[in-house]
Amino acid sequence: MARRRIIAGNWKMNKTPSEAVALCAELKDLVKNDAVDVVYCVPAIDIVPVVEAVKGTNVHVGAENFYIEDKGAFTGEISAPMLKDAGVEYIIIGHSERRDIFGENDVLINQKVKKAFEAGLKPILCCGESLALRKAGTYQEWIKRQITWDLSGVTADQVKNLVIAYEPIWAIGTGETATADQAEEVCKMIRETIAEMYDAPTAEAVRIQYGGSMNAGNAAELLSKADIDGGLIGGASLKPDFGKIVNA
Ligand code: PEP
Repeated sequence: MARRRIIAGNWKMNKTPSEAVALCAELKDLVKNDAVDVVYCVPAIDIVPVVEAVKGTNVHVGAENFYIEDKGAFTGEISAPMLKDAGVEYIIIGHSERRDIFGENDVLINQKVKKAFEAGLKPILCCGESLALRKAGTYQEWIKRQITWDLSGVTADQVKNLVIAYEPIWAIGTGETATADQAEEVCKMIRETIAEMYDAPTAEAVRIQYGGSMNAGNAAELLSKADIDGGLIGGASLKPDFGKIVNA
């Protein structure tokens, strides 16, 4: 079964609402490609203007974070139903910056994955190892454990609509990219893990992205690999280069 490619930008904490609208206009023609799902994951305050700005284009909107409760006394937080109502389709969960800077653990990440599906959002679940784990050679076990914990209680039908982003932490924002072979090795292992946890059709359906300094120069080689179905892109998603990645 052919999986549809998915190229998602993670804008992180980089654009004000007016800058976000300007970026949508700058990228509009560059990201045209009907064979690819193009997603802009944007800061919460940019969601409403970006949903408006991409109306009538091929771009889908994603969010970068939410809290697991639907509503109530959680000052400063945003819920999954709020995102859904605003026009959000995808949600990044388990990004290494949220794990490392904001202390999110796999218990919370698992709750977020389940809540996102309940609200009708498609999670982009991030996993990946530190440089120390890569050097120690234990990165595969680590990632397998992350996937197993993060998907506990998630059904096969839900996993068929899941996107998993393999993001080696040592390659995020560092300019250092995993080689296409290193990225493929882990993405293949993730697919095998899904086959073990669920079944072969679920593993065939789940889309797996690579993320970590993907750019216009290295995207085509990474995306040519059998188990790499797309990219999660930080820095290069804020530039015209993003269009080259979409069309790589
Ligand atoms: C990311 O943060 O998800 C990411 C992949 O960032 P960058 O492309 O800048 O390495």
